[in-house]
Amino acid sequence: MSNKLKVIPLGGLHEIGKNMTLLEYDDEIIIIDCGLTFPDDEMLGIDVVIPDFTYLKKKASKIKGVFLTHGHEDHIGALPYFLKQFEAPIYGLRLTLGLVELKLQEHQVMDRTELNVVKPGDVIHLKNFDVEFIRVSHSIPDAAALHIKTPYGSIVHTGDFKIDYTPIDGCLIDLNRFAELGRDGVTLLLADSTNVDRKGFTMSESTVGTTFDNIFRNHQDKRIFVASFASNVHRIQQIVHSCHLFNRKIAFSGRSMVNVTKVAMELGYLKVPENMIVDLFDIDKYPDNELVIVTTGSQGEPMAALSRMSKGEHRQLSLQPNDLVIISATPIPGNEKSVKKVIDKILQLGANVIYESLADVHVSGHAKEEELKLIHTLIKPKYFAPVHGEYTHLTHHGLLAESLGKSKSEVFIMENGKGLEIDDEGIRFTKKVPSGRTLIDGLGIGDVGNIVLRDRRILSQDGLMVVVLAIERESGKIVSGPEIISRGFVYVREAEDLFVDARNTLCHALSELEKDNVTEWATIKNTIRDTLKTFLYQETRRNPMILPIIMDV
Ligand SMILES: [Zn+2]
Ligand SMILES: [Zn+2]
Repeated sequence: MSNKLKVIPLGGLHEIGKNMTLLEYDDEIIIIDCGLTFPDDEMLGIDVVIPDFTYLKKKASKIKGVFLTHGHEDHIGALPYFLKQFEAPIYGLRLTLGLVELKLQEHQVMDRTELNVVKPGDVIHLKNFDVEFIRVSHSIPDAAALHIKTPYGSIVHTGDFKIDYTPIDGCLIDLNRFAELGRDGVTLLLADSTNVDRKGFTMSESTVGTTFDNIFRNHQDKRIFVASFASNVHRIQQIVHSCHLFNRKIAFSGRSMVNVTKVAMELGYLKVPENMIVDLFDIDKYPDNELVIVTTGSQGEPMAALSRMSKGEHRQLSLQPNDLVIISATPIPGNEKSVKKVIDKILQLGANVIYESLADVHVSGHAKEEELKLIHTLIKPKYFAPVHGEYTHLTHHGLLAESLGKSKSEVFIMENGKGLEIDDEGIRFTKKVPSGRTLIDGLGIGDVGNIVLRDRRILSQDGLMVVVLAIERESGKIVSGPEIISRGFVYVREAEDLFVDARNTLCHALSELEKDNVTEWATIKNTIRDTLKTFLYQETRRNPMILPIIMDV
């Protein structure tokens, strides 16, 4: 049955991250966003996590375009991996595509990709879909909602948004357009749920500028560091403004900060007076009170510039007692501990730190309860499905829609892989399609699965024991070993007795096998594993990974 419209999220539901939703009708598929997420503590050694593209594999020829709402990693980060497997034109506003280009060049997939810059109000016409970009406010310039005309009416996807009446760049969210769409009738609304459980309105970005000015005024003799997201161009613009006001030079630290600000300046989104920028290598030429260093690391990421400074491991920058560090961001859920650690370390170095709970040095980029109510009321959708949030956020957002008059049967809490289908008879959930996470480790895409992860977890917790045996091929007799080598289990020199006992226990078990003329390697390996496991658990209450290695001679 081809004449159904399907809306299938492949990521971004029951999680904050790796947003990706597809719309499918007949022989056309369009994709909204293609983001990544960062690994949690369980995913040892994993660099990034992207959506599972399995569902698209057999339908590759149907993909007619990827439409990007904005340039955050959780919306564009998986594109390089997607484009290694699929071909599709990409559409987005100018800064979004500027950031995409940077990313695709890094991954060397730029040459074979068609990037189409659109403006707010532009409509891309396909056979079954017309996709319109509508300007919204967010913590990055050029954020858009999408209005998609389908054979079963209009769908509005808000993207990430907030309502800012005094935006830094003067580009207001197009509330008029949302009102028009609401008047004409919208079948389905998909809306950002990130801040649904926060009361009131999100403050305007411009309030942060006032706070910066005050802090700069009160710390005129200090050297000032500001940690923020590189993509928060408006935030950086306000730091530039304060620098101008207090006659300070600015230096950018951290790879993404340097790269993103460069793109933003080239495209005219970030305006920095000539001669204000100094190279990180030259900062020693300037006294403390004439310098501001804008850095990555607001999330306590261990490899980011701020963390390295806090540990004294940064090549050009070391924090001094005369430094003031402003952390102009909120920890993304899960990052609280690492941010706290960085703050502790900075304070131990004698420097001062100002963070969100001490002053208004950050505002969110996501709509709170009252802003969401406004959008629901303007758009008045027939059906509503919350997106961009953990299960709690989605549930709350569903309840919010109900409080505004929707009935339970008009609200749909989707899951990754389990979306909606709409036809003449109405709307219902689809069957679940393959979805989930694909783990990226170095150059490997998806080659690290649950088993590898489990092994990494065991290795990281209880270490490794390798048992080496040499068996004579003809007779099946053990001619050397068992020899035990361990890593990350116990300090061998202080546990010699344990190793002697372990070896004796193994020898005993192996001689029993020999008596019974058992020569299959699998049985020998299992015996080694079981015997050692039991012994080590009894003696140490630990479960290292046990790796028997048999060589034949
Ligand atoms: Zn997002
Ligand atoms: Zn965003």
